[in-house]
Amino acid sequence: MIASTLPLSQCTARTWPVVVVGAGVAGALAARQLAQAGIEVLLVDRAPFPRWKVCGCCLNRRALETLAAVGLGSLVGDRGGIPLYSLRLASGGKTATVPLPLGAALSREQLDATLVQEAIQAGAQFLAGTQASSRGLVGEQMRQILLHQGEQEATIQTRVLLAADGLQGQLLAREPGCEVVVRRGARIGAGAVGDEAPPFFTPGTIFMACGAEGYVGLVRLEDGRLDLAAALDAEQVRLQGSIANTVARLLGQVGWTAHLDLSALTWRGTPPLTRRARLLAGPGLFVLGDAAGYVEPFTGEGMAWALASAVAITPLVLQAMDRWHPGLAHAWQRRYQDLLGGAQRRCRFVTGLLRSSWMRPLLVHVLAHVPSLARPFVP
Ligand SMILES: Cc1cc2nc3c(=O)[nH]c(=O)nc-3n(C[C@H](O)[C@H](O)[C@H](O)COP(=O)(O)OP(=O)(O)OC[C@H]3O[C@@H](n4cnc5c(N)ncnc54)[C@H](O)[C@@H]3O)c2cc1C
Repeated sequence: MIASTLPLSQCTARTWPVVVVGAGVAGALAARQLAQAGIEVLLVDRAPFPRWKVCGCCLNRRALETLAAVGLGSLVGDRGGIPLYSLRLASGGKTATVPLPLGAALSREQLDATLVQEAIQAGAQFLAGTQASSRGLVGEQMRQILLHQGEQEATIQTRVLLAADGLQGQLLAREPGCEVVVRRGARIGAGAVGDEAPPFFTPGTIFMACGAEGYVGLVRLEDGRLDLAAALDAEQVRLQGSIANTVARLLGQVGWTAHLDLSALTWRGTPPLTRRARLLAGPGLFVLGDAAGYVEPFTGEGMAWALASAVAITPLVLQAMDRWHPGLAHAWQRRYQDLLGGAQRRCRFVTGLLRSSWMRPLLVHVLAHVPSLARPFVP
């Protein structure tokens, strides 16, 4: 358990230069980077840490490189992360094995808690189990945030708010212009974790079953558990009656159900996945990680995007410490597009192909014979 570093009552006594809401990979790394640069940062999360979340738990090459670039290159290995060598893709009776360039599987309990600890070590203050909601600008320069911790409530002020509250966040729900645009027909996410992992699901391989219902990925974690994460067609979930039934159908079509007792798992769902925030920045505000935008997870890049955005935001926040000016909002909008626009378009393209009932098996068939064709799509 990671304890809060200060009581809620002490947070109100000053104006915080930076408050980061959300201690997922985006928020925790941004807080760490800013604290290292000498900024007083308050990192807030509504969950107690460590916490589980729906995720495939696969860090790709780009994510590992970003961690290495900020001096955290050994973090994943030190926590027992399992190197990933291959992706086994199955659809419509066909299977392809694609080699992976570099990657690792690490549970989100371990990864996120370690990044929070790194932020605290760098000097950030941390409030766990604390729900934040933005109350907008006070005057031209200051932002107000309402914090709830159990029965307690407090209002704090900050010069810069980083919204890293993820896919399910409601931090900016009351702020005009901060709506989220959800893509029509976007799939929903779902996840579960199995304490007992059948030997069929060998460590080091991502198993991915695709069908008309969506897809489900299975991977062994550092402690031997089996992580399951899926992107599912909401209408199919309704027709099948539950997430568990829909996943069972997907796995049954590729012959992998015999290896698993799906009835023993507890599933958690997410809202529709593919989305973007209308506003990425405004006076004293930057939005990053999933809160800024997300594309469904087939290519397993969300954490790489979140980590990259956390590093890229740091110089802009440092500039905002001197004085906020509208150029900073434009700069983040541009930087975000340059950094992630191409990757998100590529991911949308691949997930679009997978929706086609004739393209899906064809794709797997082609990859089974020429696995190297997957290279541009395995970042
Ligand atoms: C099914 C599925 C599979 C995936 N598989 C992969 C994969 O294999 N590889 C990969 O790289 N990515 C994957 N992703 C994507 C990845 O999970 C996200 O992109 C990543 O977690 C984004 O990090 P984040 O820090 O932006 O948000 P999160 O990790 O979601 O963190 C947001 C945090 O904000 C907190 N919070 C929210 N609202 C508030 C509030 N009001 N006050 C205080 N705290 C708040 C939450 O408690 C949470 O801890 C997957 C996603 C899904 C849905």
